[in-house]
Amino acid sequence: MTDTLIVIQAASGELGKSDLSAVGFGLELASAAGGQLDLLLLGPGAEAQAGPAAALGARQVFTMGGAELETYTAEVFAGATAFFLEGRSYRCVGAATNSASREYFPRLAAVLDAPMASDVLEVESVDPDRAVFTRAVFVGNLLATVELEAPRVLVTCRASEFEPPPSSEAAPIEAVDAPGGLAHPGKAFVGIEAATSDRPDLKEADIIVSVGRGTRGPEEGIPLCERLADVLDAALGATRAVVDAGWMANEFQIGQTGKIVAPEVYIAIGLSGSIQHLAGMRNSRTIVAINKDPEAPIFEVADFGLVADLFDAVPELTAALEKRSG
Ligand SMILES: Cc1cc2nc3c(=O)[nH]c(=O)nc-3n(C[C@H](O)[C@H](O)[C@H](O)COP(=O)(O)OP(=O)(O)OC[C@H]3O[C@@H](n4cnc5c(N)ncnc54)[C@H](O)[C@@H]3O)c2cc1C
Repeated sequence: MTDTLIVIQAASGELGKSDLSAVGFGLELASAAGGQLDLLLLGPGAEAQAGPAAALGARQVFTMGGAELETYTAEVFAGATAFFLEGRSYRCVGAATNSASREYFPRLAAVLDAPMASDVLEVESVDPDRAVFTRAVFVGNLLATVELEAPRVLVTCRASEFEPPPSSEAAPIEAVDAPGGLAHPGKAFVGIEAATSDRPDLKEADIIVSVGRGTRGPEEGIPLCERLADVLDAALGATRAVVDAGWMANEFQIGQTGKIVAPEVYIAIGLSGSIQHLAGMRNSRTIVAINKDPEAPIFEVADFGLVADLFDAVPELTAALEKRSG
């Protein structure tokens, strides 16, 4: 058993940035184990995603759709993956860490009686009976080495730590029928209220403009930052202080108890750079900070820092960018 399976939740027709990183992670696992990588796309977007997924260096792409997989529930996803794995030998079964895999992977581990490591940052080694991974603990202040001793292990990765693979020759695609009766009889999917926005999704955006308490809320500094985000075609993010104040919705929160992001450019405005916030954005490629306090901890991780009042600096920056883009 040396092969790896990466499971991708195919809710829509397009592969997301974290899906691509999960494939990169899968290739690392497969190479460490001396085997090959297969992909399993689960959900209504599986067929549409299969073509692009097949060009990412995997040996084979499997798709599974059907009525029960139309909407995500942990029971159905764990059951479908367990069904797929029956009679198939994989050394590692992995996925990107996200709200779904945080829920259904532990369930799958229990169903398979397999050990699991979650939110892995690095693959150390994958031997026949022992797999070793590095994961962050205590808000990223400590790195833990985790050893899983079993012939089959489950592992989720922090997507921002792994590079998407280069495109390669197309792998074969095979549709697998989902079994019936996966849904738990005591649980019914009622509906989903998805927020709509013209701005890019936080997890997918190349540029994020992130706002802190220093903006003084939606009546004052936040609209200035929104304008900057629009000029840059950036997503908006926020600190927990902003969310707790009710200035922005929960889905915008970045950090230990929010989203973990790693865009090309992260522009931190009027936020101090608390350890909990840094836990969600410190892997951004370039960090730009605007803060009036030169001692603010955000400057310790910033590549470019501007000590200035945001109420002057942000409109100036926006105007300069607008002028440049005509
Ligand atoms: C268990 C736990 C989990 C947490 N999880 C998260 C999390 O996921 N994400 C998160 O963000 N926080 C989290 N927090 C909260 C965190 O500890 C901080 O309280 C929070 O990040 C602070 O937000 P802030 O930087 O917006 O506010 P502040 O720390 O108040 O910083 C405001 C900054 O704005 C600057 N400023 C003020 N006025 C101006 C101006 N006019 N121009 C320029 N700069 C200005 C100030 O100098 C200051 O640096 C968590 C806390 C706990 C205990």
